Amino acid sequence: MLVSIRWFGPPCVMAFYRMSSENYGFGTRAVHEGRGFVGSTGAVMPPVYLTSTFEQGNADGFDYTRSGNPNFRLLQQSAAALEGAAHATCFASGVSAITAVISTLQSGDLILAEENVYGCTYRMLDRVFAKFGLKTCYLDLSRPENWPAIATQRPALVWLESPTNPLLKVVDIAGISAVARSVGAPVLVDNTFASPYLQRPLALGATLSLSSTTKYVNGHSDCLGGLVATNDPAWQEKMIFAQKALGLQPSPFDAWLTTRGQRTLALRMERHCANGLLLAQWLEQRRGVRRVRYPYLPSHPQYELARRQMSGGSGIVIAELDCAADKALEFCRRLKLFTLAESLGGVESLICHPPTMTHASVPREVRHRVGIGDGLLRFSVGIEDGQDLIADVDAALKEVLL
Ligand SMILES: *Cc1c(COP(=O)(O)O)cnc(C)c1O
Repeated sequence: MLVSIRWFGPPCVMAFYRMSSENYGFGTRAVHEGRGFVGSTGAVMPPVYLTSTFEQGNADGFDYTRSGNPNFRLLQQSAAALEGAAHATCFASGVSAITAVISTLQSGDLILAEENVYGCTYRMLDRVFAKFGLKTCYLDLSRPENWPAIATQRPALVWLESPTNPLLKVVDIAGISAVARSVGAPVLVDNTFASPYLQRPLALGATLSLSSTTKYVNGHSDCLGGLVATNDPAWQEKMIFAQKALGLQPSPFDAWLTTRGQRTLALRMERHCANGLLLAQWLEQRRGVRRVRYPYLPSHPQYELARRQMSGGSGIVIAELDCAADKALEFCRRLKLFTLAESLGGVESLICHPPTMTHASVPREVRHRVGIGDGLLRFSVGIEDGQDLIADVDAALKEVLL
C-alpha cells in the first residue's frame, strides 16, 4: 500500500517551474527562479531532496546525487539567471569550484594569474597542482602595461579576482578579457567579493564566473558552497563532469540553503553597500587611521574603473590603523557588533586582522611589501543599522588609540 503513495503526482506535473524571464529585473529573478517541483502539493517553496539515489527511468533524468539532485538543479537555474549565464554548476565550497576549474587543465599548461589572488587559490596551485606539472605565472593585472604578457605567454587560463582579497584591488575585466580573447585564452573571474548583484563578469567578456557562495550569495554564514557560471556549453560539460567525477557536489540541504539565501541577495547587497560606504567615509576622516580602501571611495586607485564595472562598492572595507599588530588585535576584540572571525559576506558584521589571521603564514617583509601592514584590518560590514556600527568602531578606537 505504501508504495502507491506519490508525493508529487504523476511525472508529467513534476517538471520544473521555469520562468520565461530575461526581461525581469535582478530582484524578481532572485525571488522567482529556482522554485519548482510543485507537483500536486501546492508547495510554494521546494522541499529538500535528501536522497542519495533515484529510481531508474524517472522523467527528470536523475540517477545519483553525486551527479545531480533536484536541489542542485534549482540552485543552478537561479544562479545562472542572476549571473546572466546560460549555465551554472554548484559545488560543495568555493575551493571545490576552484578545484573543478583547475582540474580541467593538463600537465604543462600555464595559468596566468592576478598576483593578489585568494590565499587558498594560491595554495592549491602551489602545493597541489604544481606537483602535476601545472605552471603558474603571477602578474599585477591592475596595470595594463602587464597585459601584453597574455598574448606572449598564451596561457591555458587567465585567472582574475576583482575586487581582490584582502587589498580590494580592482582589475579591468573587460579590458583583460578582450586581450585574452584575441589569443583564445579563457578568462575566469572569482566574483566572490562583488557577487552577481554588483558585477556580472560574463557580460564583461569573461568565460567563467566563479563564486564562493559561502559569502554574499548565501549570505547567512550557515553553509559553504561554490558556483561556476558560463555561456560556453563545452565548459559547462567540463564543470558537470568535475562535479561528479571528483565528488565536488554540495549536500542537497546546503544547496537548498544557498537557494534560499540567494533570494534576498539584492536587498542585502544594497544594505552592505550603503553600510560599507558609510563606514569607509567615516574611517577616512578619523584620526589614528592611516589609510582606508573601498572601491567606491574616490581615493581608491581604481575608483573610476570600479564605478564602471560594479554597481556598488560591496561590503568589505580595509583600514590600516596607525599602531602595532597587538593594538590592532585589541581593537578587534573590543568591538561588540563585529565578531573577530575569518569569512565575510554574511548579514552579521565580522572583522579580520590579516597579519595574524588569514596572512599569518606570509613572512612579515613580504606582507609589508604587498601592502599588508601590521595594523591592517578587514571589515565585513553586515546589514545592521549603519550608525550602530559606526558607534561601535568609534568606541573601540577611543579605547585603544587614545
Ligand atoms: C572564501 C573565498 C573562496 C573560497 O571559498 P570557500 O567557500 O571558503 O571554499 C574563494 N575565493 C574568494 C575570493 C573567497 O573569498
